[in-house]
Amino acid sequence: MPETIFSKILRNEIPSHKVYEDERVFAFLDINPLSRGHLLVIPKEPAVTLDELSDDSAAALGRVLPRLCRAVQRVSGVLAYNVLQNNGSAAHQAVGHVHFHIIPKPGDESGLGIRWPTGKLSPADGSALAEALRAALE
Ligand code: AMP
Repeated sequence: MPETIFSKILRNEIPSHKVYEDERVFAFLDINPLSRGHLLVIPKEPAVTLDELSDDSAAALGRVLPRLCRAVQRVSGVLAYNVLQNNGSAAHQAVGHVHFHIIPKPGDESGLGIRWPTGKLSPADGSALAEALRAALE
């Protein structure tokens, strides 16, 4: 597991604006926010990408995320928000420690911008793909 800026934050070696902490989870303000209230939520477990994370850390994150979203809504005064979680540099992950962004979306000028180039799922490919994924879960 490579050393990251987030491991240093977890060890309190560099400062952060802490918002929440429990046994498995830490949340703090993003230093370069896309909008006011942009929060980062990380597991204490040192996993690089979400697929590497233990069920216990995943459950701990899942348990607290909605509560953190509600706090961000309340304090930013903005009801709309995006939860973003990047894995791998090709998917815009810059810090190699699992993190969820909670990003208020006040309007077109700030918050997360999304490109959403959709395709079409054919019935044949849908069947084959779903079957392959079900098998991969076993
Ligand atoms: P990602 O592109 O998903 O890896 O996002 C990494 C995020 O970490 C970016 O939004 C950065 O602004 C944020 N970030 C990097 N260093 C710090 C830091 N020291 N404190 C708070 N946020 C940070």
